[in-house]
Amino acid sequence: MALIVQKYGGTSVGTVERIQKVAERVIRWRKMGHDIVVVVSAMSGETNRLLGLAREIDPKADPRELDMLAATGEQVTIALLAIALQKLGQPARSYTGAQVRILTDTAFTKARIREIDTQRIRDDLREGRVVVVAGFQGVDEEGNITTLGRGGSDTSGVALAAALKADECQIYTDVDGVYTTDPRVEPNARRLDRITFEEMLEMASLGSKVLQIRSVEFAGKYNVPLRVLSSFDEGPFEEHPGTLITYEENGMEEPLISGIAFNRDEAQLTIKGVPDAPGVAYRILGPVADANVEVDMIVQNVGADGTTDVTFTVHRNDYDKAMGILRKVADEVGAREVSGNAKIVKVSVVGVGMRSHAGIASTMFAALAREGINIHMISTSEIKISVVVDEKYLELAVRTLHDAFGLDKAA
Ligand code: ADP
Ligand code: ASP
Ligand code: MG
Repeated sequence: MALIVQKYGGTSVGTVERIQKVAERVIRWRKMGHDIVVVVSAMSGETNRLLGLAREIDPKADPRELDMLAATGEQVTIALLAIALQKLGQPARSYTGAQVRILTDTAFTKARIREIDTQRIRDDLREGRVVVVAGFQGVDEEGNITTLGRGGSDTSGVALAAALKADECQIYTDVDGVYTTDPRVEPNARRLDRITFEEMLEMASLGSKVLQIRSVEFAGKYNVPLRVLSSFDEGPFEEHPGTLITYEENGMEEPLISGIAFNRDEAQLTIKGVPDAPGVAYRILGPVADANVEVDMIVQNVGADGTTDVTFTVHRNDYDKAMGILRKVADEVGAREVSGNAKIVKVSVVGVGMRSHAGIASTMFAALAREGINIHMISTSEIKISVVVDEKYLELAVRTLHDAFGLDKAA
């Protein structure tokens, strides 16, 4: 007998019928003799709807109240799932994050989990109940309701699995695993049987929203066996095992490239003709950081004629704010010109096999060049290469790279 945490995303609990399907699946696992803790998201679209209501009143609403509001989405689905389970004869109990006591810090809208009290859950399991926990939410020391950032139910699931020392955390979603790239953009994308934590972390941080990045961090840190699978596949588990996130196995023949990630949420800013002197990067990027704007890629040109150019990317939501700061900085440091482009995207190839192989970058650049796709910025790490290109080339770039690295064919 195992203890399994199952997390169901928004589409998987999007209607009453879908919730009933989830109840049936949970009961199938119970009948195999396992203890089950279920974590659910709000019905699909609900979190957006709730936050939209707040925006109608005040686009800059108090984050504490936004969390109070957004957390209600998950309170609906936990109760409905518990009712569906009970109706089918399975004793069940639902809890909000605060009721479990998923203790977080006070960073409203992006809180981090500090500690989980598992007593109540363990008592229920011992009594033969299925425990249903609201994803995406917790409570701070003062009793304020907090949320964990968009997509945060994944992190609730993994954190509960870690706290309960569960045998596995299963993330049920609307695709049947982790693919070589988003199957909605590249229909030839291929499901991976396995992916390493390291690669999954890179994919998530480079924009693949199939798992929230913090959930992967958590799973890696606490050694939680993690699996992504579909809530729409009927039939035995063995036929639809999804994708297992694993530690790198030494000696295993690693594929060169595992996947392609992309991020549509970036914008690019450039400051030109900055006097090339020590401290310039700090004078430009210091005020940006002070305004809590996170900078992703940074490129500084080699100086010529005593001046240099600096280009960097930020989240698209921060574009106007960053532009305002940059204009002020330009005056102060005596720069020639400030420009920007909010219609750019970042496309990245990821693979642990890249470490020991040269030539990945040239294959990537050649493929993009053949399609006439201009690269604005490049950044690399041991296991990834990212490029910034115009937004209009996103689909073409993803498909071209998918093809260039033969990702549609089994490794
Ligand atoms: P949920 O509501 O279940 O949490 P999400 O929408 O957050 O679901 O995540 C699932 C979606 O992630 C898929 O529908 C797919 O479009 C997208 N996705 C992006 N990259 C990938 C990838 N590499 N593999 C699988 N799905 C991906
Ligand atoms: N309901 C939340 C969101 O839409 C959390 C989640 O679905 O993971 O972001
Ligand atoms: Mg999600």
